[in-house]
Amino acid sequence: MSRLRITGGAVHDPANGVDGDVRDVCIDGGRIVASLPSDAPTLDAHGMVVMPGGIDIHSHVAAASVNQARRLLPEEHGANPSPAPALLDGEISRSGTGGTVPSTFTTGYRYAGLGYTTVFDAAVAPLGARETHAELDDTPIVDAGFFTLMGNDEYLHRQIAAGERDRARDYVAWLLKATGAYAIKIVSPGGVELWKRNVREVKSLDDPVGSPKVTPRAILETLTDAGNALKLPHPVHIHCNNLGQAGNVATTLETMRTLDGRRAHFTHLQFHSYGGERGKSWSSAARQIAEYLNSHKDLTGDVGQVMFGPATTVTADGAVEYLLHASTGKKWVNVDIELETGCGIVPYTYQEKAAVAALQWVVGLELFLLSGDPWRLVLSTDHPNGGTFLSYPELIRLLMDRTYRSDRLKMVNQRMLAGSALADGINREYSLNEIAIITRAGPARLLGLAAKGHLGPGADADVTIYARDADASRMFATPRYVLKGGVIVVEEGQLRRAPRGHRLHVRPAHDDVLLRDLGRFFDQYATVQLENYPVATPKDPPVWGSA
Ligand SMILES: [Zn+2]
Repeated sequence: MSRLRITGGAVHDPANGVDGDVRDVCIDGGRIVASLPSDAPTLDAHGMVVMPGGIDIHSHVAAASVNQARRLLPEEHGANPSPAPALLDGEISRSGTGGTVPSTFTTGYRYAGLGYTTVFDAAVAPLGARETHAELDDTPIVDAGFFTLMGNDEYLHRQIAAGERDRARDYVAWLLKATGAYAIKIVSPGGVELWKRNVREVKSLDDPVGSPKVTPRAILETLTDAGNALKLPHPVHIHCNNLGQAGNVATTLETMRTLDGRRAHFTHLQFHSYGGERGKSWSSAARQIAEYLNSHKDLTGDVGQVMFGPATTVTADGAVEYLLHASTGKKWVNVDIELETGCGIVPYTYQEKAAVAALQWVVGLELFLLSGDPWRLVLSTDHPNGGTFLSYPELIRLLMDRTYRSDRLKMVNQRMLAGSALADGINREYSLNEIAIITRAGPARLLGLAAKGHLGPGADADVTIYARDADASRMFATPRYVLKGGVIVVEEGQLRRAPRGHRLHVRPAHDDVLLRDLGRFFDQYATVQLENYPVATPKDPPVWGSA
C-alpha cells in the first residue's frame, strides 16, 4: 500500500508549527505529500495523537563494544527471551534476547514497537566499523547510523603535534568515509590515551598527551573546527573529560567555554554536571550547565538521564569503567583498540535508595526542567548506560506529570539533594509538543536530517500514532500504529512488518595527498593494511556528501 491518508488525529509536528491541530497526514510512495485523491485508503486516527517517528540521537546498539557487553551478560539472555514476532504475509522474523543489551533483531523490533524509527550508535571504534555495519544490517526497521571515535586517535594526535591542521581535517573526512559513519565522536579527549599510559585522571584541558602540543583542548578545537569546516550535518559529538566525577562541572564548563561560538554537541550532560569535590562530597550542578547552555546558542546537548533499575555501562572511556569496577566489584571488560581508542564495560543497577544514583536521577531531570530551549537539549538515557531505551515512556511521564514526579522524588535517597533545584520545587510540565521536540523534531534538527522529525511534504513517512492516555508512560510505551517509510509496521499495538532500515552516513571530500602519509603510518604501526581498512560503501546513498 503506497498511498495512505491518516485522518482525524491531533497532529504534533513542531518543525512545521503544528501543535495538536486535527488534520490529515498524506503518504505516497514512502514520503509525506500535501494531498491525495479522495479515494486513497485511510487510517482512522480520531481521538489519537500523531507525531513523526522517534529519533534517538545517542544510543549503543551495534558495535564491537555492544557485542562484548552481550557476551559479558549471558544471565540476561535466559531471563528475557524475545520470541520471533508473528509478521504478516509470511515475512521471516527472528527470535532473540532482551535485557539491557538486546540482540540485533530484538533491538529493531523493540525500538519500532516504541514508535522510534531512527537510531544512532554513538561510539564506534574505526576498526570496529565493519562489525557495526554487519550488526545494523541485522537490525530491522530503524534507519541507523553511527559516530566514529576520534578523540584518542594516534594519527590525529600526530597531526596536532606537527601543527598539520589541514591534514587533520582531511583525515577526519577520510575516516568518516572509510568507516561509513555519520559524525565525529570525541570521548574524553586525550583521556583514553592517558589511561593507556596509566594516567587515571585528566587534571586540566591543558594536560599534555605525549607532546605538549597535544592536549584535550587542542583535540577538541581541531576536531570541532574540522567538522564545521567540512560542514557536516551533525557537529562534533562530545563526551567531556572526567565523566561521573564529583566536581566535574568545572571541566564541562571549561570545555563549553573553549568551544563557545562554534557548533558543538555535548552528550549525556547529566554525567558531567556534578558539583562537590572528588572523594569528599557530591551535589547537583545542573543549574550552572543549564544556564550556560541556555545562553550559548551554538551549543546543544542531550541529557543522558539515569533511570532506576538495571543498566549496562559501555563506553570508550576505559578509565571511568575501571573506577566503576573498583567501586562495585562487578565483572568488567577493558579493551585497548590499537592506535584508536579504548573500551570499558561494567553492568550496573541504579537504586533509588543509593545516594549517588538518586543525585544522578535528580540532575538529569533538572537539566530537562531548567532547559530554556527544547530544540537544543534533547532526550537520551545513553542506552544502556543510564537505563534502557524501554524506559523512555517512564521518563516522558516524569517530565509531563509533576504530581507523579514529586511522589517519586519523595521515595529517593535525599542525602545529596540539599540545594538542588528539583528538591526546591520545579513546577514545569512538558507539553505534548515539547515531548515531540525532544524526541523527534529536535534530534532531527541537531543531526541535520532534513527528511526526518517532521510531517511536511517531502519528509520520510515515519509516523507514530498514540492512543491518548492520562498516564503518559502507558501512552508512549504502546503506540497504536507505527509507520516506517510509509509501511505500517505496528498495527493495533502489534508488530506486523519488519522492512529493512536504511544506513545513514556521510561522504565528505578530502585531498588524496593524505593517503601517502597515512599509508606510511599504517605500514609502520598498524596490524591492518591501509587498503584493507575501509568498509564496503553502504548500499544506501549518503545523507550528505558525494556518492
Ligand atoms: Zn554513550
